[in-house]
Amino acid sequence: MKFETLAIHAGQEPDPQTGAVMTPIYQTSTYKQDGVGRPRNGYEYSRTQNPTRAALQDCLAALEGGGFGLAFASGLAATHTILQLLSSGDHVLAGNDVYGGTFRQFEKVHRRFGLDFTYVDTTDPENVAEALTPTTRIVWLETPTNPLLSVTDIRAVAEIVHAHPSRPLLAVDNTFATPYLQQPLELGADLAVYSMTKYLGGHSDVVGGAAVVRDPALAERLAFLQNASGAVPGPMDCFLVLRGIKTLPVRMDRHAESALRIASILEAHPRVERVLYPFLESHSQFGVARAQMRNGGGMISFTLKGGREAAVRVAEATKIFTLAESLGGVESLIEVPAAMTHLSTQGSQLEVPANLVRLSVGIEHVDDLIADLEEALG
Ligand SMILES: *Cc1c(COP(=O)(O)O)cnc(C)c1O
Repeated sequence: MKFETLAIHAGQEPDPQTGAVMTPIYQTSTYKQDGVGRPRNGYEYSRTQNPTRAALQDCLAALEGGGFGLAFASGLAATHTILQLLSSGDHVLAGNDVYGGTFRQFEKVHRRFGLDFTYVDTTDPENVAEALTPTTRIVWLETPTNPLLSVTDIRAVAEIVHAHPSRPLLAVDNTFATPYLQQPLELGADLAVYSMTKYLGGHSDVVGGAAVVRDPALAERLAFLQNASGAVPGPMDCFLVLRGIKTLPVRMDRHAESALRIASILEAHPRVERVLYPFLESHSQFGVARAQMRNGGGMISFTLKGGREAAVRVAEATKIFTLAESLGGVESLIEVPAAMTHLSTQGSQLEVPANLVRLSVGIEHVDDLIADLEEALG
């Protein structure tokens, strides 16, 4: 079946008892057992297994051509659990433009437990080849990145990583692209990682995370950690993400169509210094983006000529674009990363420009969005 059909049906059969077409929210922590040590259909306790979560996990796996989906309480909970595959002394090679919260977790949490991190510009895969060490266990890519929209050639990095004698795992944070625009596992990655809070949920009403893998042994190790560490989402949250995923393809197409128009208009605006959007010809990885993504997605970043002050003024002046963190919902959002989402990168190698504005282009009418931005820029 095609992606659009899987998004609506995968993992979800009408309830066998009642015929309920939508997956029930199994709001239970425990399950009656048929005898001592004989749980029914494997359900014992909801940290380990819950039917609503199982439906979501199966749907996530199906959207990436099969394998195993694992849902977590947040995107960073997914990241944390994946890092628990490692042991003290192991090395992680990451992009130098990863999400601020990922960087903060790597540096402020995992480093204390003896993991080592190096950050390189992954847009040139040669930098990855040079920075791999005998103790590298995970290569952590994000593409496109938050907030600079940098694009890395996943297939090229996968070839380098898998040819290395220490056989690290390649994890790709695919939050911005979603499985609809980009399929990391198909391109050679071992793990696709998501903040489901963003486009998968799609309505800014739930926090969640996920990992999708193909290797059954890796899936088993992650499922063990998911249960042993316990950062799982509740059934209501799983239901909300399942519902969000049903419209993912139509939403992403609209987000991208509007974003491309807005990016082109911004690029021609006299107050704008530079526009970052993967499907603009001016993007430094336009060719790679076109090759590995279905469209450019809904995220745009741009710098203003008037510095930080101008960025703050524009972000505070829009009316439809709401000044808020997060992204990927049906409503348009605007923010200044250096002062908001990426404050934790200040003074580090990952610091973002102070005059940068980030847009999450929603699915309102594009003419209203353009008018709102033009007025704020004016
Ligand atoms: C938001 C985000 C995360 C973290 O996800 P949470 O659900 O907020 O924990 C990770 N990566 C990217 C690219 C994000 O945008």
